[in-house]
Amino acid sequence: MLRNIALTALILACFEVALAAILFEGPEQLPRDQHYDFIVAGGGTGGGVVAARLAENSQFRVLVIEAGPSRNGRVSTSAAYSIHPFNDLLMETSNELSDEFPLKLDMNDGSPIGIAWNQFTIDHNAERSSSATAYLANTGENVHILVNTYVTRVLPAGENGTDFRMVEFSANSASPRKRLTARKEVIVSGGVIGTPQILLNSGIGNQEELQALGISVLVRNPSVGKNFTDQVSALMLMNTTIRDTDFDRDAALTEWNETRTGPLVLPNHLNHIVYVRLPEDAPPFSKGGFQDPTAGKHSPHIEYVFSQISTHPPATVVDVPPTPSDVTTIQFLAVNLHPVSRGSVSLNSSDPFAHPVIDLGLLSEDLDIAILREAVRSARRMYSAPAFEGFVSQSILPAANVTSDEDLDAYLRTVASPFLHGVGSAAMSPPNASWGVVDPDFRVKGTSGLRVVDASIFPTVPSGHTQVPVYGIAELASALIAGEWT
Ligand SMILES: Cc1cc2nc3c(=O)[nH]c(=O)nc-3n(C[C@H](O)[C@H](O)[C@H](O)COP(=O)(O)OP(=O)(O)OC[C@H]3O[C@@H](n4cnc5c(N)ncnc54)[C@H](O)[C@@H]3O)c2cc1C
Repeated sequence: MLRNIALTALILACFEVALAAILFEGPEQLPRDQHYDFIVAGGGTGGGVVAARLAENSQFRVLVIEAGPSRNGRVSTSAAYSIHPFNDLLMETSNELSDEFPLKLDMNDGSPIGIAWNQFTIDHNAERSSSATAYLANTGENVHILVNTYVTRVLPAGENGTDFRMVEFSANSASPRKRLTARKEVIVSGGVIGTPQILLNSGIGNQEELQALGISVLVRNPSVGKNFTDQVSALMLMNTTIRDTDFDRDAALTEWNETRTGPLVLPNHLNHIVYVRLPEDAPPFSKGGFQDPTAGKHSPHIEYVFSQISTHPPATVVDVPPTPSDVTTIQFLAVNLHPVSRGSVSLNSSDPFAHPVIDLGLLSEDLDIAILREAVRSARRMYSAPAFEGFVSQSILPAANVTSDEDLDAYLRTVASPFLHGVGSAAMSPPNASWGVVDPDFRVKGTSGLRVVDASIFPTVPSGHTQVPVYGIAELASALIAGEWT
């Protein structure tokens, strides 16, 4: 125990934070005689919030089991800024094409449509803020954090076969599995992939699919792992004469280390984000006959997020058509923020350490590609603003002559990739619904003692980024759970 406390102190000293939570680096370090009121499986965005909020009651002892290593520090947000002519051109565009691309001073004011300064969860020290730094860093000795450890299953405790307060965990497939029972509840916060994987391995899922893998079915629920949704993005490149954003990475690292300034302060080197809402008579609705999938007039259909201006090809996870090597391009993603396509997370083995099967289902619904098509057209309209005359000449990807629906679709199906804002694989639904995984109180349907609190509970993807909504639902869930036990 003393060694663990000393280790924690050492780690915390690095981040100048007075954390009293106790860190264990593997299951073998966990003391045998400990009892926990709550066990949180997964210490990411949602799990970090839940653990910290529940631990505000000093009577509650909380264990967080996290597959990765943990870091501690401090949290905040910033609208970081780098000086570049592209910023000015976008500002001019917001004047010139104000109907489609109005200036937006604060994209988080509830109506994000327009050209806005990007906001980041980066603190005053130019370091990433997270729920580990914002929440877990401020907890006390009643929180234990066990890292490098996988939750393999949740299990019924006692005689009630649906009271899932027991957690099974292990460092890796070769290590022995250990078990602990929470005195009050288990909260699964493994994220949009980890959570359905844990539930399915536990026998909570589709009966036929689990039986086919030899997993005993404890709770029949065909919705577990289904409804997985991610936003779909497409790379675009525009030829430009604007100076590039390339920089010497070694020098930038030195600058960041010494002064916490310079290009490495920002995840991208351009400062803006653009949210576009298609008009009611846009082709997907007027010609395609589709219903608007979004929540209403303040919800964007499309986002543009800019990465760099460079002659270097962009780093991508998909094969993109080759581009001329000596051409400077503005490199950005056009994103359909609210797709209606659905994918799934499923198992292909009863081994909890085997990778799950992830089917993104991108562009499986025609509406999604119809909207992404309009995203390309809208971006081209943006660069046709008088402000960009002489600075942006033509579309490189997709090529300028790719304009018809058919040609655009062929390009989009080649480059479509997930925007990494996955949700929905353990969706919340009304208590008596024939679909869904958790009830409105975050309880896994058909169980007691077991809740899910993470991005997997959103039935549809928010028309924006997902980190903040996860903080929101995790705060709500924490208040609800704490209220029930106080
Ligand atoms: C590369 C990337 C960049 C992103 N950038 C942004 C951004 O700029 N803005 C934004 O708003 N959103 C961003 N997101 C999305 C955002 O990070 C997620 O929506 C959010 O973190 C989801 O929170 P969560 O609690 O559901 O899952 P997570 O934060 O992923 O937490 C899940 C945790 O559970 C752990 N875990 C999983 N399985 C197990 C297991 N079996 N046992 C123990 N632990 C387990 C994982 O290690 C992880 O720590 C990004 C996502 C990615 C992948």
